[in-house]
Formats: sequence, C-alpha cells, structure tokens
Amino acid sequence: MNTTGLSFWQRTCELPPIPERELPRAVDVCVIGGGYAGLTSALFLARAGMTVCLFERDTCGLRASGRSAGHLMQGTSEFPNRAVELWGETKLKAVWDIHRSNNELVRELAGDSCGYQRKGNVYLATSRDEYLELRESFSVLQRLGVKGVRFIESGELSALLGPGARRGMFEGGLIAGEDATIHPMKYVARLVQLCLAAGVRIYQHADVTEIRETEGGVELVVQGVGGREQGSDESDRSKIKNQKSKITAELAVVCVNAYASQIFPALEGVVIPSRGQMLATSSVNVAIPRGLAHCANFLYEYWHARESGELVLGGFRWTSESAELGTYDDTVLNTEIARGLRSYAHELYPELPEDSVEHEWTGIMGITSDGLPMVGPLPGKFRIWLNLGFSCHGLSTATKTSQLLTNYLLEQPMDLNIEHFAPSRLF
Ligand SMILES: Cc1cc2nc3c(=O)[nH]c(=O)nc-3n(C[C@H](O)[C@H](O)[C@H](O)COP(=O)(O)OP(=O)(O)OC[C@H]3O[C@@H](n4cnc5c(N)ncnc54)[C@H](O)[C@@H]3O)c2cc1C
Repeated sequence: MNTTGLSFWQRTCELPPIPERELPRAVDVCVIGGGYAGLTSALFLARAGMTVCLFERDTCGLRASGRSAGHLMQGTSEFPNRAVELWGETKLKAVWDIHRSNNELVRELAGDSCGYQRKGNVYLATSRDEYLELRESFSVLQRLGVKGVRFIESGELSALLGPGARRGMFEGGLIAGEDATIHPMKYVARLVQLCLAAGVRIYQHADVTEIRETEGGVELVVQGVGGREQGSDESDRSKIKNQKSKITAELAVVCVNAYASQIFPALEGVVIPSRGQMLATSSVNVAIPRGLAHCANFLYEYWHARESGELVLGGFRWTSESAELGTYDDTVLNTEIARGLRSYAHELYPELPEDSVEHEWTGIMGITSDGLPMVGPLPGKFRIWLNLGFSCHGLSTATKTSQLLTNYLLEQPMDLNIEHFAPSRLF
C-alpha cells in the first residue's frame, strides 16, 4: 500500500530534469504555479515570443494537477438542465465549447506519451430523479447542437459498465462520446518538456511571497531561488531556501488555484480550497471497459479503468463535505471517505479482489461559487492576471483558458472568448 501521500499518477511518472538557471532581473512575463494552468500559460506565452519565468513552490504537478482523475469532460459541475436555468443557453454553450476545444488541444499537446483515450464519459443515474434530470439535460444539449451525446436506457448499460459490473445499480444514463481520459501526471511531465523546449525558465521550490503592481509592470518577491549565488552543497541549499530575490516583469499570470488567497487576501472566500479523495487498485483481471470515464450520483462519484488494468475511482466528498472544505493538507486521508470509496468499488465490481486497493490519495481543488474559473485581470489591477479557480474541472478547462488568455493579451485572433470567466463577476 502506498503511504507516501502521493497519487497513483505521481508514483508512476517522473518529471524530466529541469536545469538550474540564474534568476534574471527582468522578463516579459512571470507565471506563478506549476500545474496545468501555469505550465500551459507559460508555454503559449513563450511560443508567442515572450520571455517567461515560471515559479513553482514545490515541484510541478505535485498538487491537484498530479492528483486528478484524468477525465477530460465537456460538462460542468452542474447538469445542463440546471446550468441552463442559472446561466442561459449562450453561456452554457460557450462553456461546453471551451471544454470541447480544451480536449482537442490537450490531445495535440499530449501526443502519444500520456495515455490519452477518447472513449467518452457515461453519466449514470443512481435514482429516478437523476434519470429525469439527465433526460432533461439531453434535450438541452440537443437544442444547443452539442455533438456526440446520446441518452441510454438501463438495458444498454451493461455494455458500457462491462460484464464485471453489478447489474441493476443504475436507471439509465447519458453518454458524452467525445470526452476522454489521460494519465494526468504524464501530461504535466509532457508540458514541462514542451515549456523547456519553448525556452521557459522553470524554477521549482520557488515560493512567490509578494506580487506588486508598479508603474510600468510588476515586481515579485520569490523565496528559494539562489540567483547568482546558487550553490550545490547542502549548506548553500539551506541558505537558498530562505533567500528572497526580486524580479520585475511587464505582467504576472497567477495560476495558483486553491492557494490564491495566500497571495491575495481579497480572494479569501472567493476561491475556496476543497479536498477530493481517490483510490487506485492494482492491475485487475475484471472486465471493465478501459479508458471509458464514468460518473454517477450527480458527478459526486467518478471512475475509469486504465488500459493497464488499474481501476481509479474518486468521490464520497459529500459524506463529510464540511471537513473537506478550507483545508490545504493533501498529505492525509479522510478515513470515512476511504471506507466509502472502497466499499463502492466492490459494490460496482463485486469481482475485485479484497486486497486490490494499492493507492489512496487526496488533492486540493480551488472552488468558486459558480464552479467556473477566474480568467482575466485581478479586479483593480491591469498587470496581474488570474487563471485559476478551476473547481472540479481544471484538466477539462485550463489548457484552453491559457491559450485564450495568451491570444487576448497579445491581441491575436481568438476562436472562443473568456468573457464568462471574468474575475469581476465574483466580486
Ligand atoms: C481528486 C481530484 C480529482 C479531480 N479530477 C478531475 C478530473 O477528472 N477532470 C478535471 O477536469 N479536473 C479534475 N480535478 C480538478 C483539477 O485537478 C484541478 O482543477 C487542476 O489540477 C487545477 O490546475 P491548476 O494548475 O490550476 O492548479 P494546481 O495543480 O493546484 O497548481 C497550482 C500550483 O501553484 C503552486 N503555488 C501555489 N502558491 C504558490 C506560490 N505562492 N508560489 C509559487 N507556486 C505556488 C502550487 O504548489 C501548485 O503546484 C480533480 C481534482 C482532484 C483533487
């Protein structure tokens, strides 16, 4: 059993070596955060000709981006029948379009090295109420012209769940056929490789403690980067850990997700940390369709089987929601949730061997009140941009928002727009 606090993904993938570089005095853009949002922002900005430094407090992908379920979804946290009431058709369609385009972009960037599989995502109805809401959602999606979506009655479910699944657990479902799965940490590693090739200077163990707007740009205080005095022996390293350096840039792009209020106290209560929990089994000989994503119980539970035979499954946050809110600790498990996940895995697939769970982990999401990210200038500032608050959908959204943000900043043509994600909507 893995007791390191790392995810299955982090234990099955290593980052490429990141060369140590001197800290320059000034660059065009500083990006803060080394998850999907930070790495893709840095990548697109560097490819557009900007000089970019990326600062990551730990190592790239050590937080939520290396701990997700690996589902690339078009949908949002709210079912379409509810989202259309809240947002209207135009906004709902715009968000689904961003997710669809994100999926395509991730596929392009990931290439063949990240286990990307486009097999779809089945939304399963656990109750009659959920069945009716999925039916209504299907009508909404048809009206919006969303492609690849199909409604499924219970008789058709066994093929989608696999012969190894318990019969009769679900009333029916909806399949979003263009959704995909990926090894999320291999995607992070691939992004690091692409960033380095594009000339991004990546600094790990570099904590940005202050970001200040100045007359012509921004000034950052970074702790943990040695600059010109960078050394290689232990005593040099411990000096460097506490060393503070300054760097200036024309713009800061802040991609720290759940940790936003630690830099900007005004974001306290706007982006709320919320812990999710998952498990992964060993490679099992149970008939579960590989690479097809599943979710049930209004998206609270989610799982898929890897090509290599492991089942990854998450959820049960609802059993102790309040305990999972407001914490930044992703090194511990919630034992009640762990029990719930293990027994749900066996309920779904009764043939799973008793001792097959090999990994359990948690990860911290940054939740906003409408479940949509904040992409745009920090209210009241011009040169500090946010790309964060991805709630439960950062893998499904952040690569595209980073591309759109880059195009917007550099006044390049945009195929979709980010107006629905303006941070000002939440103040
Ligand atoms: C259990 C679980 C399952 C999930 N499943 C899915 C899924 O299937 N599909 C999906 O789309 N989404 C999923 N998500 C959500 C997704 O993982 C997140 O939305 C996404 O990883 C956010 O990426 P990010 O780059 O914004 O944040 P992060 O990956 O959290 O990266 C932010 C980085 O900023 C760094 N940082 C913070 N403060 C500072 C600072 N001051 N200085 C320097 N660096 C700093 C952090 O160390 C961190 O590495 C899941 C999340 C969890 C926890």
